[in-house]
Amino acid sequence: MKPTSSLDRREFVKLGTLATAASLLPAAARAAETTALTLPPLAFAFDALEPHIDAKTMEIHHDKHHAAYIKNFNTALETKPDLAKQPLDQLLANLPAIPDEALRNTLRNNGGGHWNHDFFWKTLSPADKSGKPSDMLAAAIQATFTSDEAFKKAFGEAATKRFGSGWAWLVVKDGKLKVTSTPNQDNPAMKGIVPDADLGTPILALDVWEHAYYLHYQNRRPDYIAAWWNVVNWPVVSERYAVAMV
Ligand code: MN
Repeated sequence: MKPTSSLDRREFVKLGTLATAASLLPAAARAAETTALTLPPLAFAFDALEPHIDAKTMEIHHDKHHAAYIKNFNTALETKPDLAKQPLDQLLANLPAIPDEALRNTLRNNGGGHWNHDFFWKTLSPADKSGKPSDMLAAAIQATFTSDEAFKKAFGEAATKRFGSGWAWLVVKDGKLKVTSTPNQDNPAMKGIVPDADLGTPILALDVWEHAYYLHYQNRRPDYIAAWWNVVNWPVVSERYAVAMV
């Protein structure tokens, strides 16, 4: 899969080295040195997606929800230096190898929470900069779904029918576009633990947790999905598609 968190990974490596050098420091200082993930800033202001996604939702979603996933993930790894040294993609791909079920679930939910939100923010753009799919991606959408409308309908159904909390995904699998969804914070990086494992390479994601839309849309998830299409960052999705097809 195309790395999506290379900065995080470099931080992992760098901090892993620092952690070794810091092994003589008191435990509290050492824990601070090995904190692996940090909250990436958004590339736009909280109100930049109005009226489609409101500023308050963006602020709480990024500064509270995403931040909490990172805090929980880092806390869980404070006393697990061997796991903390692993790049996030590698850790998520090897979750079944973690024997401690409570730790495994914490890393699954919170590591997935960070991975998914980092991916999701990059998929968003103010409506006036949203752009459109590249010719290559547009042709693939036509070939796979027969029309743009049919594609949005299929994606919207995956997002609407995901019971409870989860994500809808557009992925590249075996060179083809495919719409799918995952529960909770599971994602296609979690080989061997997601029931429909090896979901493919994600290029577009939609968060359908209530925290992503409830302040503005309450129970109207379909209205949120319809509005969200206005703020999809198509240049980024098209670039991911091009990379996935190499
Ligand atoms: Mn979310």
